[in-house]
Amino acid sequence: MSLPIELNEMTPDFKESVKEKVPTANFDLCLTCGTCTAGCPASELFDMDPRKLVRMLVLGMDEEVLKTPWAWVCTMCTRCVNACPMKVDIPKLVYNMRNSWPRDKRPKGIRGSCDQHIRAGNAMGVPTDDFIWTVEDVAEEIRESQPQFEDLLVTVDRKGAYMAVNQNSREPVTEPEELGPLWKILHTVKADWTYPSVMWAGENYCLFLADDEGWRYILEEFVSHIDNTLKCPLVVNTE
Ligand code: SF4
Ligand code: SF4
Repeated sequence: MSLPIELNEMTPDFKESVKEKVPTANFDLCLTCGTCTAGCPASELFDMDPRKLVRMLVLGMDEEVLKTPWAWVCTMCTRCVNACPMKVDIPKLVYNMRNSWPRDKRPKGIRGSCDQHIRAGNAMGVPTDDFIWTVEDVAEEIRESQPQFEDLLVTVDRKGAYMAVNQNSREPVTEPEELGPLWKILHTVKADWTYPSVMWAGENYCLFLADDEGWRYILEEFVSHIDNTLKCPLVVNTE
């Protein structure tokens, strides 16, 4: 005879606290249909999947929900909520699960990238001068070696450009030659664009860390630079 499952005390507190922050999250409308789980890249990792998670939440298994490391393997891709017939917002649930972890207990890699971004303006910790030097150097190499791009224009902080384009910070550091293809496309379509020098990185690991203050700070600095200094009407995030 199998042993009964032992459950900790059940409370709906966490579900209610998330619903207060995300009134449209609709956890109680879950039909247990499994559509979310069928398309989820994180299904079955750590013996968890989105349908099971929502069921545990609705049953009040707060302790289990709040301690599962699965919160950190969900990719936040939003495939589940887009497929869900009841639009149960599982990514918002996962965000709030992450947010409930003490900051120093959240995964070190994501935390480090978030801290670098707040400090240096990008997750790789690249000094702004190095970014500008790399951009200018790669652009010059393209102009010199590829005659069809001899008038390639790549700028940082060009005021009045139509588009502000940000950039994954890994590329200037580990694969600078990968910067060129996007520039060539923008050049070919005659786009009027510039990189910003402030918070120029497109990634935002503070969002994935569920660090509310961190990701808001990054965005506010970025938006302030675009609005007040560059005055670009359009932003293109390449991430
Ligand atoms: S797809 Fe939506 S309704 Fe179906 S199990 Fe997942 S959360 Fe529940
Ligand atoms: S957001 Fe998370 S739970 Fe939803 S499909 Fe993507 S990985 Fe799965």
